[in-house]
Amino acid sequence: MANMFAFAESRGGSLRKVALEAVSAARQATDATGGGEVHALLIGAPGIGAKAAALGRAGADLVIVVEHAGLARYSPEVFAATAADRLRSGGYRGAFFAASAEGRDLAPRVAVALGVSMASDLTGFAFEGDALVGKHPTHIGKIITTVRLTGSPALLTLRPGAVLVTDADRTARVEQGAPALDPAAARVVVTSVGGTGDAQLDLADAPVVVSGGRGLREAANFKLVEELAAAFGNAAVGATRAVTDDGWRDPSTQIGQTGRIVSPDLYVAVGISGAIQHLAGMRTSKTIVAINKDKDAPIFKLADYGIVGDLFEIVPRLTEEVRKARAGH
Ligand SMILES: Cc1cc2nc3c(=O)[nH]c(=O)nc-3n(C[C@H](O)[C@H](O)[C@H](O)COP(=O)(O)OP(=O)(O)OC[C@H]3O[C@@H](n4cnc5c(N)ncnc54)[C@H](O)[C@@H]3O)c2cc1C
Repeated sequence: MANMFAFAESRGGSLRKVALEAVSAARQATDATGGGEVHALLIGAPGIGAKAAALGRAGADLVIVVEHAGLARYSPEVFAATAADRLRSGGYRGAFFAASAEGRDLAPRVAVALGVSMASDLTGFAFEGDALVGKHPTHIGKIITTVRLTGSPALLTLRPGAVLVTDADRTARVEQGAPALDPAAARVVVTSVGGTGDAQLDLADAPVVVSGGRGLREAANFKLVEELAAAFGNAAVGATRAVTDDGWRDPSTQIGQTGRIVSPDLYVAVGISGAIQHLAGMRTSKTIVAINKDKDAPIFKLADYGIVGDLFEIVPRLTEEVRKARAGH
């Protein structure tokens, strides 16, 4: 019986969805390999331990809580040293991190500290004998590469949205841990988290993403997209590269091959043609709705629901209907 480790990412004192995904994936792997325990590592400012219960519901048997006033934000050296220490001592078979900006920075540091292999940005995984077999989309999602790692623990980063979050009636034990390095001694200090800001729903966490493209004609018309997102209440706003390159939107909101990869429950593409580089960032969304005046736009090949028409007529009506539906009319 092997234990699995999961890193529980948080931001601003809240768990990120990818934290629950990492724990849920570790639970699946543990159950598939004959049982064992899932240990989640949760690091943050004092008070972060209150989030341990949610990690228990996602499948953690034990949550190691490391609270320190100097760890309100990600600290690469401290987080990596603390995770590596735990992984050295726990007899873990696998270690799950998110393929988020933070996880992509953290997991390789931990792999180097331990001298083990890691697989990045997996959308599927299985432990087979002494190997971890992972699925990793390449060539803009057209090819799925199978990677095979041997050695323990096998480290991996999981693409946001790759697994469903478990929500079971279970409670995790909580253990208080300590940082393996004094945060005050860290050479690298994260002074702020940029992009869309700490307060807004992050694209990777949002259950709904409404994205706009060049079909909106000019930056000011993005308010149509923002209003539709606001009507959903749990949506983040994305954009195509055509739009971010033109300066209409912040580059951190670009979805695609050279931008963010999202996998929400619902993706609404407004005035987006569906270039292959854009599809690479959203094709794994659960349900895709496209609004485009060109019935032959490539986005319709991927969309579950397509609305052919002028977005300037359709989006305000859709926004109104979503508002009514949410208000219970
Ligand atoms: C190396 C490389 C990397 C790239 N990486 C990315 C990336 O990460 N993300 C990304 O998005 N792109 C990326 N691109 C750019 C990509 O190839 C496309 O150029 C871009 O996605 C197109 O954006 P768009 O759909 O907004 O614009 P367009 O392709 O111009 O499409 C606009 C759409 O709006 C529709 N439309 C116009 N008016 C209306 C209306 N009134 N009502 C309804 N529909 C309307 C049109 O029919 C059209 O389909 C990359 C390109 C390269 C070469």
